[in-house]
Amino acid sequence: MDTQNLHSTDINLIFDRLPNLSEKNKKLIIKGCEFAKRFHEGQYRKSGDPYYLHAFQTGFNLANLGMDADTIVAGLIHDVLEDTLASEEDIEKEFGPHVLKLVKGVTKLSKARYYGVERHVESLRKFFIAMADDIRVVVIKLCDRLHNIQTLQYVAPEKQRRIALETLEIHARLADRLGIGRLKAELEDEAFPYVYPKEHKEMEKIFGELHLISDKQLEKVVKKLNEELSMFDVKIERIDSRVKHLYSLWQKLKRYNMDISKVYDIIALRIIVPEISDCYLALGVIHGLYRPILGRFKDYIAIPKPNGYRSLHTTIFDGNGSIFEIQIRTKEMHEESEYGIASHLGYKEFGKNLTAKELEKKVDWTKQLLEWQKDVNQAKEFLGNLKTDFFENRVFVFTPKGDVIDLPEGSTPIDFAYAVHSDIGDHIASVKVNGKMSQLDTKLKSLDIIEIEVKDSACPKRKWIDMSKTTMAKRHIRAYIKEHGGALDRFLTK
Ligand code: MN
Repeated sequence: MDTQNLHSTDINLIFDRLPNLSEKNKKLIIKGCEFAKRFHEGQYRKSGDPYYLHAFQTGFNLANLGMDADTIVAGLIHDVLEDTLASEEDIEKEFGPHVLKLVKGVTKLSKARYYGVERHVESLRKFFIAMADDIRVVVIKLCDRLHNIQTLQYVAPEKQRRIALETLEIHARLADRLGIGRLKAELEDEAFPYVYPKEHKEMEKIFGELHLISDKQLEKVVKKLNEELSMFDVKIERIDSRVKHLYSLWQKLKRYNMDISKVYDIIALRIIVPEISDCYLALGVIHGLYRPILGRFKDYIAIPKPNGYRSLHTTIFDGNGSIFEIQIRTKEMHEESEYGIASHLGYKEFGKNLTAKELEKKVDWTKQLLEWQKDVNQAKEFLGNLKTDFFENRVFVFTPKGDVIDLPEGSTPIDFAYAVHSDIGDHIASVKVNGKMSQLDTKLKSLDIIEIEVKDSACPKRKWIDMSKTTMAKRHIRAYIKEHGGALDRFLTK
């Protein structure tokens, strides 16, 4: 993604990305810009830039992914509910219920905070997944984060590392899961120096000293490939090259004990062809032309990566002392690998149109979530989670500060209080759900915000055992009654 436009609010930046935009949608986006500008008037970013720059850049990032007009507008005005006097009614009146729903979704997401503790990372991830009844919300949040991390140098130093770590652990992982390769790379490289400053410097040095194949040499290879492939009637859309991004190079190097001579895909050639059959034809020609390295060939077309990535990868000797990777894929596969799920949500300039059902299948969240669990958890924990099937049977609620608490379905404010801290559970005086006074046995719904008022004089009642759902709450209530209330019970029955 372009970074040279980081300080621009020129609306043509957005329009240039979306050549097929209708007049109606153009007007909608202009209106979104004006709305954001008007409500953020007088507000400034830490960089000293007008706040509107952040709003605009978020919209621009979404346009870069080719998202639809509603999503871009929601990106442009994503902070107005939280930070300005704009009301839900204002948004609905100007842009309709769909945009409002997106903005509300983003506003709720931005209340979630991160503490760098494994438990919280997991809750946050689950929370993101739970929110994904409209994935556009998550994509907006990722584009918002991209601009925030691009301007992280203006944030107080003690906050920088936390935000950057959160970006690596949550946002980049999410972008990867959604298959938006571009966004993942961008988020990772921006966060890298803040989280691992020493290693980042080292990587820059290693990268600077690499003897990469020269552009001229590369050009020769591309020319030769073009000639040979057309001799065998393989149709080619184009041949690009890409340089591995720094963070992902570091990740790979760590796996090879920092031995750079073992990494062959620092530069990769990408051959984009029209049809799947052309991929295999091209592969045959290339393997006839250059000697492939044994064990480096991967057929991600027959066996896609869990996030849906498809391509053929092979590593070859070019005969002049260089070794590099060649990736062969169709245009559709390429767009999918760069834009992931976004390529199915936007203007369908690329790829084929998907029906709602096909899209749903693509975003098979339960499956994605399980894959995710495999990444992050020990096998035993993973099986435990599988049994509870939290995706179907969990609710995700918030503390007033925005921490996510993950509870089984049917939980009440009592369960919530004990999940936060046993001291809070033991002294519940009253409870507010979404700002309204509520009964202690209210069944909580996902995204509810729960506020518990505690009093030293308040204590658990026996009937709370039936009013709570979690074993943890019931155990604490029993323990408290046994210790304190038990004596009282005996006294009363005498
Ligand atoms: Mn924002």
